[in-house]
Amino acid sequence: MNVDCNDPLALAADLFCQEEMDIKGIEKAVEEILVGIGENPEREGLQRTPQRVAKAYKELLSGYRMDPKALINNAVFDVVYDQMVIVRDIEFSSMCEHHMLPFMGRAHVAYIPSDKVIGLSKIPRIVDLFSKRLQVQERMTTQIADYIDVVLKPKGVAVVVEGLHMCMMLRGVKKHDARMTTSAMLGKFREDLSTRMEFLDNISRGAERLHF
Ligand SMILES: [Zn+2]
Repeated sequence: MNVDCNDPLALAADLFCQEEMDIKGIEKAVEEILVGIGENPEREGLQRTPQRVAKAYKELLSGYRMDPKALINNAVFDVVYDQMVIVRDIEFSSMCEHHMLPFMGRAHVAYIPSDKVIGLSKIPRIVDLFSKRLQVQERMTTQIADYIDVVLKPKGVAVVVEGLHMCMMLRGVKKHDARMTTSAMLGKFREDLSTRMEFLDNISRGAERLHF
């Protein structure tokens, strides 16, 4: 990754800036897990499993090593517009850091520009930046809001994330329909109830039930 690690954007993105992922190390560890389970890592179906898992992790955990400058590249514009911009129903998937099992759902993002707006397609990329990591949903929600705050210095940012957590659905309490909602409100969204309500009304309109 060719990134200036001290750039404010890189700092806000909270990256593993210098380190590459240790693919060989992950492969070795997965093989040990297979042995620990009691499996035979040499049997046909499992022979390439360590490589496949490592490759999957590389993709699912790619958010630590995204170039935050390239991510918003040439998509921040000076515009005189001070109304709310809302991007809703952004699909995401992440991995819970407690069990390393997926959680997934959708994110809704809004901001009120001061003098800058960002290309709409970049907002889902910002969600990816923070979801493709080992996460807890609360922190992911805050990080998305804080990052947009750094990039655009808007009058306000709001992020609501709805997630279904495999670790809750499949194990332990086995709540098959446990949907978790988290939110982060900054600036006007925090200070002004009517602004916050406008956003919350918008994202609840026609919302479909979250499911896998
Ligand atoms: Zn978990």
